[in-house]
Amino acid sequence: MMSAAKKMKANGVRVRFAPSPTGKMHLGTARAALFNWLYARQHGGAFILRMEDTDRARSEKAYEESILEGLKWLGLHWDELYRQSERTARYVLHLKSLLASGKAYRCFCSPDELEAEKEAQVAAGFPPVYSGKCRGIAKDESEGRAKRERSVIRLHMPDKKVSFEDLIRGEVVFDLALIGDIVIAKGLEEPLYNFAVVVDDEEMKITHVIRGEDHISNTPKQIAVAEALGFSVPRAFAHLPLILGPDRKKLSKRDLAKSILDYRDEGYLPSALLNFLVLLGWHPKGDKETLSVDEMVREFSFDRVQKSGAVMDAEKLEWMNGHYLRALPEGDLRALLATRLPREWLAEEEKFERVLRLERERLKGVASLKEEISFFFETPEYDVKMLAWKDSPLKSARAVLKKAYAILAKVRESDFKKEGVALALAPLAAEYGKGELYWPLRVALSGRKASPGPFECAEALGKAETLRRITIAIEKLS
Ligand code: GLU
Repeated sequence: MMSAAKKMKANGVRVRFAPSPTGKMHLGTARAALFNWLYARQHGGAFILRMEDTDRARSEKAYEESILEGLKWLGLHWDELYRQSERTARYVLHLKSLLASGKAYRCFCSPDELEAEKEAQVAAGFPPVYSGKCRGIAKDESEGRAKRERSVIRLHMPDKKVSFEDLIRGEVVFDLALIGDIVIAKGLEEPLYNFAVVVDDEEMKITHVIRGEDHISNTPKQIAVAEALGFSVPRAFAHLPLILGPDRKKLSKRDLAKSILDYRDEGYLPSALLNFLVLLGWHPKGDKETLSVDEMVREFSFDRVQKSGAVMDAEKLEWMNGHYLRALPEGDLRALLATRLPREWLAEEEKFERVLRLERERLKGVASLKEEISFFFETPEYDVKMLAWKDSPLKSARAVLKKAYAILAKVRESDFKKEGVALALAPLAAEYGKGELYWPLRVALSGRKASPGPFECAEALGKAETLRRITIAIEKLS
C-alpha cells in the first residue's frame, strides 16, 4: 500500500521556489516565483518556499526578509516555508548513508593538484573531469584520514547517460561521464547546493522543478544524486529562458541591481509587475498584453514558454504600470500617491485634485508623475531666454505677458478654467500670433520646454498663482 506521503506526490502538484538569500530579489528570481506559484494555483497544488541558505558566509537574514516582503507585496503567498540551515541533520543523515554504501567517498586532493589535473586535461583536448583518484581509498583509511586531513565528499558518478522531461525543451539528455565525480559536500555538515536540493526535493515531495535556465546543467547532477540515494526524481522540470537586456545581451548591472522592492518604492504596482513578469518568456493565446492574475492562473501553460532568451524592456514595464495606474480607483491612486509625493503637495487639496485630473490620462509611473507635476507645486527656475518664442526678441515676450496679465487679472475666479482662460486670451492671440503669446505664457507658468498647454496650466495653478508667475516672468524680462 502507498504511504500517504507517496500518494500526495503521485497526485497533487507540489512546486518550490528556492531563492538563496545572498542578495535581494530581482526580476529573474521573482519570475521564477511567479511561474511556480501560477502552476501551483492552476493545479490546486502547493507552493513551497525554501530558503537555500547553506552558504553561511553569503546568506543574510536581511535578504531573506526582503524576499519574503517582496513575495507578500506581489501577492505570491506560500503554503509552506523551509530553511536549509534548519535541516542540517537531514543532510548529514543522507550523506552518511551515501558514504556507507560507497556511492560517495572522501576526496583528499588539494586544490593545486586538482588545478594541475584540469590544466593537463584541457591541454590534451579532453573535458576537465575529476580523475577519481581518491575513489579507491579504502573506507577505514578514508575515515581515519578525514579526522586529520582536509577533505570533501564526492559522488561516485555512474558512467551513463541520464535524461529528463523538460516541459519547455522536451527530452533533455546529459552524459554523466562528461561531468565526473562532483563534490556534494565540503564536510558532513556542509552540504553543497546540488546535494541539499535533492534531499529537500525528495522530503518536500516536489513534483515539478521550475527554475531558471542557468540551472539546467545542475539537473543531471541532481538526478544522479537522487538515484544514488534511491529517491524518485521529480515528475518534470521546466527551465525558464534567460532574461536578456534590450540588446539581447545579458542584463545590465543597473537592471540586475534593482530589486522588486525598489520597483515598489518607485511606485510600480504589483499588478503591473506581475503582468510584466509573466510575459518574460511566456505569452497567452491571442497575444494579449494585459492579464489579471486570475487570467494568468487560467491561461498559463509551459507549452507557450519560449526556449530562447526573453527580452526585458523597461519601457514596456513603464507602459504596463501606466495602464494599471490609470485603471486604479481614485481613492487607491490617492493613497498610493500620498505615500510617495511630498506632503505639502497633497496638502493643497483642491490644486492637487486639478493637477491629478490633468495628468491622469498621461500617467505612466509615480516617479515620472512626480517629476512632471513638480512645477505646479514649486516655483520653477528657468533661464529667461526660454521665454522668447523662436527668434522673437525678449521684449515682445515682455509686452505680451504684460497684456496677458491685465486680461487674466479681470477674469473672474469662477471662470478661471481652461475654456474661460482661452476665451479671454483669444483676442490677444489673434493680435500677436498664437506662438508669440502662448509660448512665453506657458514657460512663465511651467518653466519648462514641454508641459501641458498654458490654459491647462493656468486652470491647475489657479488665478492667484498664475498671476504671480506671470509677474515673475515679467520681472525676469525687465
Ligand atoms: N537557490 C537557487 C538559486 O537561487 C535555486 C535553486 C533551484 O531552484 O533549484 O538560484
